[in-house]
Amino acid sequence: MTLTLDHPDLFREQAYINGQWVDAVRGHTFPVFNPSNGHRIAAVPDLGAGETATAIDAAESALKPWQALTAKQRAVYLRRWYDLIMAHQDDLARIMTTEQGKPLAEAHGEVAYGASFVEWFAEEAKRLYGDVIPAHGNDKRLVTLKQPIGIVAAITPWNFPIAMITRKVAPALAAGCTVVIKPGEDTPLSALALAELSRQAGIPAGVINVVPTLQAPEVGRVLCEDSRVRKLSFTGSTPVGKLLMRQCADTVKKVSLELGGNAPFIVFDDADADAAVAGLITSKFRNAGQTCVCTNRILVQDGIHDVFVEKLNAAVRELKAGDGFGDGVTIGPLINDKAVAKVRDLVDDALSAGAQMTQQDANTPDNPNFYPPTVMTGVTPSMRIAQEEIFGPVATVFRFTDEDEAVALANNTPFGLAAYFYSRDIGRAWRVAEALEYGMVGINEGLISTELAPFGGIKESGIGREGSRYGIDDFVEIKYLCMGGI
Ligand code: ADP
Repeated sequence: MTLTLDHPDLFREQAYINGQWVDAVRGHTFPVFNPSNGHRIAAVPDLGAGETATAIDAAESALKPWQALTAKQRAVYLRRWYDLIMAHQDDLARIMTTEQGKPLAEAHGEVAYGASFVEWFAEEAKRLYGDVIPAHGNDKRLVTLKQPIGIVAAITPWNFPIAMITRKVAPALAAGCTVVIKPGEDTPLSALALAELSRQAGIPAGVINVVPTLQAPEVGRVLCEDSRVRKLSFTGSTPVGKLLMRQCADTVKKVSLELGGNAPFIVFDDADADAAVAGLITSKFRNAGQTCVCTNRILVQDGIHDVFVEKLNAAVRELKAGDGFGDGVTIGPLINDKAVAKVRDLVDDALSAGAQMTQQDANTPDNPNFYPPTVMTGVTPSMRIAQEEIFGPVATVFRFTDEDEAVALANNTPFGLAAYFYSRDIGRAWRVAEALEYGMVGINEGLISTELAPFGGIKESGIGREGSRYGIDDFVEIKYLCMGGI
């Protein structure tokens, strides 16, 4: 191992099932790489269908005793887990930067952000109220209960290796569910470290299980088709989300999907250009552009276009690409060379269709996993780069003339996750916010994610909300009791 940790017990190269650290039955493993230098940092078990069924068995055995606890008892476990995550923030951030590549400061931020969901749902566990409904007859009482949905499968991606897990697992546990987690194959170590901390927090065996695998389709099929699993919560790409939704149809599972986005970032003539550039840098370049709420299309009104582009070029020149552990580094590598090839392809396609490159960093490491921070102008809706998720550090600027055109351009996509716009006109702020077909809108703000607010998309960006007081609803069933003869 090339990682130095204060607590080496967080570095785990086994799966976590029923409170035990285990290998694959056939002994198969798969490697985990540091995307910044290509070094192999670990080998973790490559589990298959059989071990996944064993994990579901464990979640099933743990379910009744976990549900039988009081909400306050579950809250205490979650609170302990939160405290341990925060106490090990440095180690977790190091593990994350090593396997995912993001700058260490961002990794620290993600650990705290991920932990915040555990803290929040520890509190919400105690507030899962039902209703007393005014009845349709004086001899009746109508009541609703919120009951845990049962075993939850969580399939998560590599771009936020901790937060995408805690956003699902914390509300599930708070509600009284048990979980089987299939982490992204590029970043299993963060998931396993979280599991170790859940063990140290005393969360009982079988309540949390982690199934690392390179055989995502096979493991995914078991999780979707097993009738004991009552809920699938998935974050990842839209094609895989659609496939999983289809696979869940036969057992009529409840699904939550956080899928791709194509976020517009609209800058109106009346915007504060400096604030808009600052918001854009956060929204576009965080995690090297690899977030589902990253700006994908920057729509700039004629009157402010040239000033905005000049300021944007200057701000992008200040970004520093490099190894996530390097001093002052703000842009890490992309997750792998396939991701770089896709970004390069989209940029080449746009250039050949008439877009211009106005800024590209010359000091980005010459390594197959890095792509230099880039600004392009003259981008138009018909280009592939306007229609697909870039998932890389490339800012693409479009031009528009009036508000109606901007809203039409912004909504011209099957996706509907996050949108952003900058304007100082209060009437326009309401009009545009209401007209944007998106689940989340940042108004004069480029960073909108917080455990306090509901995160989620509409259209082909997904179903369900994570975080906030709504985030636990996806993990409960509402039961209605009609009591007569009173
Ligand atoms: P990304 O582009 O973020 O890697 P994916 O949708 O491919 O998006 O991956 C998100 C998660 O879904 C990962 O954990 C991945 O292993 C998993 N995954 C990919 N394909 C399948 C599948 N066919 N069935 C179940 N899980 C899958």
